[in-house]
Amino acid sequence: MSKRDYYEVLGVDRNASQQDIKRAYRKLAKKYHPDLNPNNKEAEQKFKEIKEAYEVLSDSDKRARYDQFGHAGVDEDAAGGFGGFGGFGHGAGGFGDIFDDIFDMFGGGFSSRKRNTGPKKGANLKITLDIKFEEAAFGTEKEIKVKRTEDCTVCNGTGAKPGSNKSTCSQCNGTGEVRYAQRTPFGQFVNVRTCDKCHGTGEVIEEPCSKCGGTGKEKRIKKITLKVPAGVDTGSVIPLRGEGEPGERGGPRGDLYVYINVLPHKYFKRDGYDIYYEMPISFVQAALGAEVEVPTVDGKVKYKIPEGTQPDTVFRLKNKGISYLGGNGKGDQYVKLKIQVPQKLNEEQKQILKKFAEVSGEKINETKKGFFDKVKDAFGG
Ligand SMILES: [Zn+2]
Ligand SMILES: [Zn+2]
Repeated sequence: MSKRDYYEVLGVDRNASQQDIKRAYRKLAKKYHPDLNPNNKEAEQKFKEIKEAYEVLSDSDKRARYDQFGHAGVDEDAAGGFGGFGGFGHGAGGFGDIFDDIFDMFGGGFSSRKRNTGPKKGANLKITLDIKFEEAAFGTEKEIKVKRTEDCTVCNGTGAKPGSNKSTCSQCNGTGEVRYAQRTPFGQFVNVRTCDKCHGTGEVIEEPCSKCGGTGKEKRIKKITLKVPAGVDTGSVIPLRGEGEPGERGGPRGDLYVYINVLPHKYFKRDGYDIYYEMPISFVQAALGAEVEVPTVDGKVKYKIPEGTQPDTVFRLKNKGISYLGGNGKGDQYVKLKIQVPQKLNEEQKQILKKFAEVSGEKINETKKGFFDKVKDAFGG
């Protein structure tokens, strides 16, 4: 069975924000949830489809893969094929959040007692990297610079002025958590939230670091060497695990997504893995045939143009295109012949061409039944 487009399933457009996606999902999940549609096979199927679409589109990593490769990029069965390309595989997290969401919708706050106390993964970052046409064709190594949050160099991330002390937080007694009771229709629950005085660290700074103002963090430029595989195109995304913003309460760093932008080439155009090139040849070469040298990304290639070649004839150079991303083989290069008509002729050249016309029986200035009349005839005019 072929799968429907995930964006279509959720009824959102391709640029939809995470918020839009979540909203659409919640609305649909409420409508088709099996608890609300007992013994309704169609609703059950629909719910599954919605859930699957949400699992992919709510995860920026999976969504990027889906945008690029479609279902093949995110299907568990197909995932193996992308193994070599920077951390494609089974992303951690995601499922837990979805179950939390379902509980939020139907149970009203059961799951909230776990919120905001455990480790939290840092935010993901996104940058765009411009690369040259040839770099995309062959792959390259690039140094990228990303502005992200790092430990303050003065206080080494403690937030305290060097030499000053930290003391135990008086609000949470050093636990970093504050307990409070919450009334719900199901009874009273004891909830836990992060202490807002010490932000969960259990300690308060007596004298804050003057450079970071006590946060222990500062924005710095981090340089990262990135391997760009052959075959990437504009819109390709390279995920770098753990290179995003730092996590909270011991959580891991988020990820960095590098969006590739391939700069246009002076002569070559690209469509998928194929290259298109328009090659000028003289009308003499077209008429008589010629052996020409065709530029390709691999260097010049000899090609024999046959006698009597017509304008805009296209020929194909097999395997002279772009390397397939993450696989073996290459696309092709297509060459369209643009026949050049000379713009300036000297007297001798003109004479030769007139002679040519004469020998061919062509009357250049014929007015009665000339070339254009024949054209008109052809259109029935
Ligand atoms: Zn500092
Ligand atoms: Zn505290």
